[in-house]
Amino acid sequence: MPDKFISLTPDLYEYVAVHRSERDPVLAALAKETEQLGPISLMQVAPEQGALMTILTRAIGARAAVEVGTFTGYSALCVARGLPEDGRLLCCDVNDDWTSIARRYWEKAGVAKKIELRLGPALDTLRALPADVQFDIGFVDADKPNYHNYYEEILKRLRPNGLILFDNVLWMGQVLDAATTDESTRALRELNEFLIADRRVEAVMLPISDGLTIVRKREPGEPA
Ligand code: CA
Repeated sequence: MPDKFISLTPDLYEYVAVHRSERDPVLAALAKETEQLGPISLMQVAPEQGALMTILTRAIGARAAVEVGTFTGYSALCVARGLPEDGRLLCCDVNDDWTSIARRYWEKAGVAKKIELRLGPALDTLRALPADVQFDIGFVDADKPNYHNYYEEILKRLRPNGLILFDNVLWMGQVLDAATTDESTRALRELNEFLIADRRVEAVMLPISDGLTIVRKREPGEPA
């Protein structure tokens, strides 16, 4: 069987990255400012992943979104761009410095009114939400040992056919490296196995950036 994938070279990756419709100068400026933070800027989602998130948000007609792990706000801006004018995005993060950068760019992009930022442990924020709060799409990109907990909190508020996206599911390949046994790697391995066995959702893992898993919540009565 021939391989059904190609290994990206830097040039090929660049080709991928530029072949997207989105050309948002505010996003580009935010990416540039985030790069100045140094190696931590790797936490910012890649531009093609951001573009995918905008498309998915718009394609499912999402009106209510949630993000766990906002950093400097790039992914949130991409999701907010895909929401209608009266759409809402709840952002959870613990870092005031990073999210103050996010807020500036959300203002510049004209999406600030769609976004509510809650500073504090995301599990506390999610568990304190009123019972009637529902989401159409969620993005999980925070502390890996809590991914499963974030999943459960978001899933119970997700409408059928809603989506949850998990970032970094390949963990730079360490999910396959038996010698790596730290807590984050183990948590990601366990979640990756859990999601494919979870009949409440259907799941696909994409080799975009550091790995992105997308799950769709099944409809009631849907054959699993
Ligand atoms: Ca990430």
